Amino acid sequence: MYDPLTTSKLANKQPLADSYWASTVPSAQLRTKPLATDISTDVLIIGAGYTGMSCALHLAEQHHIEATVIDANSVAWGCSSRNAGFVLHSSGRKSFSQMQQQWGEDTMRAVHAEMLEGVERLNQLIARGIDCEQQSPGYLKLAHRPRYFEQLKAQAELQKKMFNVDVDILSRDQLHQQYAADQNAYGAIRFAKGYGLNPIKLALGYKDLLSQVNVSIYSDTPALSIEKQNHGHIVHTPQGNIRAKKIVLASNGYTPKGLHPVLNNKTLPVLSQVIVTRPLTDQELSLCQLQTNQVIMDTRALKYYYRKLPDKRILFGGRGAITGKSAEDPYYAERLLAVLKSSYPSLKHVSVDYAWAGWISVALDEIPHVYQNAENNVFYATGYCGSGVSFTCQAGKRLADKVAGSAVPNIPLYQTPLPHFPLPAFRRVGQWAYFQYGRFKDAYF
Ligand SMILES: Cc1cc2nc3c(=O)[nH]c(=O)nc-3n(C[C@H](O)[C@H](O)[C@H](O)COP(=O)(O)OP(=O)(O)OC[C@H]3O[C@@H](n4cnc5c(N)ncnc54)[C@H](O)[C@@H]3O)c2cc1C
Repeated sequence: MYDPLTTSKLANKQPLADSYWASTVPSAQLRTKPLATDISTDVLIIGAGYTGMSCALHLAEQHHIEATVIDANSVAWGCSSRNAGFVLHSSGRKSFSQMQQQWGEDTMRAVHAEMLEGVERLNQLIARGIDCEQQSPGYLKLAHRPRYFEQLKAQAELQKKMFNVDVDILSRDQLHQQYAADQNAYGAIRFAKGYGLNPIKLALGYKDLLSQVNVSIYSDTPALSIEKQNHGHIVHTPQGNIRAKKIVLASNGYTPKGLHPVLNNKTLPVLSQVIVTRPLTDQELSLCQLQTNQVIMDTRALKYYYRKLPDKRILFGGRGAITGKSAEDPYYAERLLAVLKSSYPSLKHVSVDYAWAGWISVALDEIPHVYQNAENNVFYATGYCGSGVSFTCQAGKRLADKVAGSAVPNIPLYQTPLPHFPLPAFRRVGQWAYFQYGRFKDAYF
C-alpha cells in the first residue's frame, strides 16, 4: 500500500479500497473526469475528501468564490470512504481537561463550541437530503478495566458540569442488559449525542451538493508538484497545469512526502484498520446480546471501536500496521477479529467479509490545525487524529473563511501552525515505541 511518509507520488486511477462501504454504492458515482487541459482558477483545492468538499461548498455558498477540486483518485478515495462512520463531538486526541489545563477555561470552551458546531453543520448538510443511513443516537465509552470505569465516571461528571451534556453512567450489568454484553467491559458512560452513518454515502452527498453549485471536481488528477509564481502558483498534474491564486491542501493523511513545505515533516500518517463481519442471524445477535446500533469505543490506549450496521454485520476497528508495506498483512484483521470474539465469545465462528485500512493524520500536539503560509495563499486543514467525520465539515468552513479573508475564532486550532516533529526521520520509530507502550499499558494497567 502507498505509504505517504516515504513516497512522493500518489498514483492515480486506483480503485476505491475494497471496503464494505464501497459495496453499498456504484463506484462509478464517485469517479469524475480527469483534468485534460491547462486551466486557471481562483482557488485550487487538492483532495476531494470531506475537508476539500466542505471547503469548496462553503466557498461557493457563503463567499461566492468559485473553486476547483482535484483528487489523485476518485472522490473520497482516502479516509472519507474508509472510515467507521462515527459522528462524534470531538476531534484530535487532546481531552477537554488537557485543553483546560494548557489553554485555560475560555479557550477550552471555545474549542468545544467549535466541535459542537461541526456536528450541527454536518447534521444541517445531511438534512438537505443526503441519505447516509444515520443510525440511532448514542455513543458508549466502555471501561476496559474497573479503574477506568472510575475515570469515565469522573469524565461524565466533568462534562455534565462544564458543558451540561446529556451523559449516563452505566454499571457493567446495566450496560450488558440495555446495550451490549461486551465481556471486556467493566461499565460505561453513554453520551446521548453521537451516531453512526454510512461514510461513502455522506461523501456522495457532498459531491451532489457541489454539482448543484457548479464546482468542478477532477478525479485521477494528482498534484505532482506545486510551483510558486509571482501571483499565486502553478500546480502540475499529468495532463494539465492549473494556475491558481490560492491553494488549499486538503490531502490530509494521504499527502505525499514533500508536496509542500507548509506540511513537510509536520504530520504522522498512521494506519487505522477496520473489519466487517458477515451479517449475523437474529439468533446470533440475541445470543451475544449486542442489542444496540449506537457507536461504541473503549478506554484502551490503543482503542478499539465498533458498531452494528443496518444489515446486522459488526464493524470493528483499531490500529493497523505501521508501514504501508505491511498494511495488507492479514495479521491485523485477524487481531481485530480475535478481540471482537473475546468481547462476544458466542461469536467464535463468525467470519469476516471485508477488511481494509486507511491513513489518518496525527499532529504532534494532537489537535487539528486549519492554517496558512506567511503569504496567505496556501491553506491547509489536517491532524484530525482519526476523528474527522464531523469536524472536517467545520474545518472546511473555516478554511473557506480564511481563504475569503473572513475572521475565524481565536483558538489554537486556527491560530497556530502544525508543529514540526522533532527528528522527523524517526517518526516511525516513535510510533512503534508508542504502540509497545500502549500494548503493555492495555495488558497490565
Ligand atoms: C479506518 C478508519 C476509520 C475511521 N473512523 C472514523 C470515525 O468513525 N469517525 C471519525 O470522525 N473519523 C474517522 N476516521 C477519520 C476520518 O475518516 C478522517 O478524519 C476524514 O475522512 C478526513 O477527511 P479528509 O478529507 O481530510 O481526508 P481524506 O478523506 O483522506 O482525503 C484526502 C484526499 O486527498 C487526496 N490526495 C492526496 N494527495 C493528493 C495529491 N497530491 N493530489 C491530489 N489529491 C491528493 C487523496 O486521494 C484523498 O482522497 C477514520 C479513518 C480511518 C482510516
